Amino acid sequence: MSRGPFGVLLDFFRNLLSRPRSTVRNPLLERCSSIANSSIPRINALLGLNYTGQALFKIDEGSMNVPAATSGSTVTVSPKWFQDHPNDDGAIVHELVHVVMHCPRMDGSNWWMIEGTADYGRDKLGYTTPWSTPTRGDPKSGYQATAHFLLFVEQRFGQEYVKKIASDLSRTGDLPQDIEEKLSLYMGIV
Ligand SMILES: [Zn+2]
Repeated sequence: MSRGPFGVLLDFFRNLLSRPRSTVRNPLLERCSSIANSSIPRINALLGLNYTGQALFKIDEGSMNVPAATSGSTVTVSPKWFQDHPNDDGAIVHELVHVVMHCPRMDGSNWWMIEGTADYGRDKLGYTTPWSTPTRGDPKSGYQATAHFLLFVEQRFGQEYVKKIASDLSRTGDLPQDIEEKLSLYMGIV
């Protein structure tokens, strides 16, 4: 007896419902997704960007020696780090800034600002921790030392200049031409 299209469709749904659930819910991944939902609009607003994609999260299966790493929209998280630092949501926010900025390139000329902007975003969204807080240092050394410089820039030249840095980086990977002026000022003043 031949089966009509309705029967085929019915079988399809029957199979779908009886199939064992292959995706085991992972609390770390669920937490990451929830942080992404709440933080991405805030990061867009803070940096004047317009990321409309979706961040994807993966658990590192190897022995990654950083809390997390981002490539495009995919963030790989270290289960070990979040086991040892269960409240470090800021590390996820840092990666989400990378996702939102989606810089077309990262090299010796811009890496420090890419990492600094990510920590600046983390700080501005309220996720500093004792081990990650704005700290005066070489502003070209990335992370919280660059975030400290960005807070200075924000205070001195306004949020619009920080947005310009983020949008230039995000569009071209380049920094604004007058960034060196701002750096000299920071080194002299602060
Ligand atoms: Zn980073």
